Amino acid sequence: MINIKSLTKKQVVQYFIDIGEKTFKGKQVFKWLWQKYVLDFDEMTDISKKLREKLKSEFVIEYPKILKKQISKDGTIKYLLELNDGVTIETVWIPSGRRNTICISTQAGCAMGCKFCYTAKQELIRNLAFFEIVDQIVIIMIDLKKRPTNIVTMGMGEPLKNLKNLEEAIEIINDEIGIGIAARKITVSTVGFVPGIYELAKYPKQIKLSVSLNATNDKIRDYIMPINKIYPIEKLLYSVKHFIKVKRKRVTFEYVLIKGVNDSKDDADRLIELTKDIECKINIIPLNISINDIDSPFKPIDSKTVEIFTKWMMKGHKAVTIRKSKGRDIDAACGELRIEVEGKNGKG
Ligand code: SF4
Repeated sequence: MINIKSLTKKQVVQYFIDIGEKTFKGKQVFKWLWQKYVLDFDEMTDISKKLREKLKSEFVIEYPKILKKQISKDGTIKYLLELNDGVTIETVWIPSGRRNTICISTQAGCAMGCKFCYTAKQELIRNLAFFEIVDQIVIIMIDLKKRPTNIVTMGMGEPLKNLKNLEEAIEIINDEIGIGIAARKITVSTVGFVPGIYELAKYPKQIKLSVSLNATNDKIRDYIMPINKIYPIEKLLYSVKHFIKVKRKRVTFEYVLIKGVNDSKDDADRLIELTKDIECKINIIPLNISINDIDSPFKPIDSKTVEIFTKWMMKGHKAVTIRKSKGRDIDAACGELRIEVEGKNGKG
């Protein structure tokens, strides 16, 4: 039987029109699914018993399962979720003051091969369907009985490689009879998949864009992020400028600071130079290497280097922030929990 959540809002409404019901019935059912998270059709109290029986004969309501949950001392909670075909993904709850962010995955595994990333050790299994992307938020809200204020797509996968499903998911996340989170609170991240940035610029919702830059010349970026060999820095920044022009929104450049790789004064100067004409914020992320990641070619960065690099950047008059490392006492690196449970290649 079909999981009714695999139908878009338009499809749910169309289903009701096709069976001779009013449009608003479809919207009521959509609301029960995505705003009230019902487990059973019988909980849909404003739908007639006859109609509920019909729905039961054609559809099921499915949710992912929580396979594992790790809670950090700082409140970060990392979930390993099992989807209905047995594939597993990670989702993280990150509290910070009045802001509660959920970091969602858009793919199971990843094909991008970023050298500093734990998920890169797992091959790409598949794209997530739109409802699997939204369900990560729903399952955490059910579990914690709390709502997130912000959504970021920095979990497993390259979001712009699964843009159609991501945009459909954002429709539900943003919908007032869905999750109901404002588009400006949703950040789409990318490692620099340039065609995806142009596509995203066409998407009408005012979502934010975050670009993982991480290097200031192509030699270093080629080494740490293989996608740069196809879309080098110049092309990437050109597409980012296009996005800003179309959306009239500043972007964020993430800069994972890696000891001895991209942490020199020259790197800081080049980063200032590259971004000086771009409406942007720069977010420095000290590389968090797990003790489990014995194959990593990198070493954890010390706080002194982070401080010096940030000072150099601030002298360049840019909006610079440092992302505090969250969940250090749990398997906080992206993809790590899944590897721990399933082994390096996942279940496939
Ligand atoms: S950083 Fe993101 S895009 Fe790069 S390998 Fe990891 S999950 Fe994939």
